[in-house]
Amino acid sequence: MALRGGIDLGGTKIQGVVVDAAGEVCGESRHPTPTEGGPHDVALAIAAAAREAAEKASTDTASLAGIGVGSPGDVDATAGTVTSARNLPGWEGKFPLSVALSDELGTPVALGNDVNVATNAELELGAGRPYASFLGVFWGTGVGGGVVLDRKIWLGRASAGEIGHMVVKVDGARCPCGRRGCMEAYAGRGAMEARAREQVEKGAETDLFKIMEKRGRTRLTSGVIARALDKGDPLATALIDRAIKALGAGIASAINLLDLEAVIIGGGLGTRLGQPYADRIAAAMLPHLFFDDRPPEVRVAELGDLGGAIGAALLVEQPARRRRAVAAG
Ligand SMILES: [Zn+2]
Repeated sequence: MALRGGIDLGGTKIQGVVVDAAGEVCGESRHPTPTEGGPHDVALAIAAAAREAAEKASTDTASLAGIGVGSPGDVDATAGTVTSARNLPGWEGKFPLSVALSDELGTPVALGNDVNVATNAELELGAGRPYASFLGVFWGTGVGGGVVLDRKIWLGRASAGEIGHMVVKVDGARCPCGRRGCMEAYAGRGAMEARAREQVEKGAETDLFKIMEKRGRTRLTSGVIARALDKGDPLATALIDRAIKALGAGIASAINLLDLEAVIIGGGLGTRLGQPYADRIAAAMLPHLFFDDRPPEVRVAELGDLGGAIGAALLVEQPARRRRAVAAG
């Protein structure tokens, strides 16, 4: 059977994979997301990542059964368009990403919502396999979520699963979404970085920004935060403690509502910090769980960093899933 390509289009990187029929990765590539220009430039960067992943799998993009793209923003899978992908450069309006990419790469291109495809990858191939129901929490720059009920992703009227915007404190910290008190305002990497910069201006002691510069980074990446935690950095420790408290409250509230079997923690921070921190989130949930005698299992996403791209590849030649992605648009 032909190989399939998958692209995870993120705000900082474009992850490409080529997978075989069993979902095993045969080739991968990682390119930085352009920070300037517009959708056309992003499409060219995606095409480059797809070509490199195909090359690593000893094939070319025209020989693939197709390529799936997990995208942020408003995804219309039927029309093949992405609208207002706000963390991508100059992408306020609607852009025909499917056509642009299939012209460039010579193969059909399917689109899906980035968080839904990553949740689906864990459901089909990863840590979600044993469970009928679970909550995927993608703990990265923001905090995304996917709800699986009876082994199907629950989309609501199109956009269910926004766990990052569960309110954990009324009139609390300002969230990147503009509202107040959302879980993401405390736990998102972006919000944590903004707070770290504020605290440093107020004279807080930290090596976070030294580690960032030493690594040639311009942002407090998951890797920078993990290194600072290893060194016992007081500000990094305080920020992560605060994040875990918020995650515990928000996720437990979702469990109180839906009584899911498991919570699967993915995303840049989730996969980098690993099971010890998933265990800490589980402990932070306990005081908020109404039925605390049978808490859900809390596990790290098995497909790690590649989950989004692998899930995107699953969009190819999976009509049922494509229909679900349509509803997500
Ligand atoms: Zn919010």
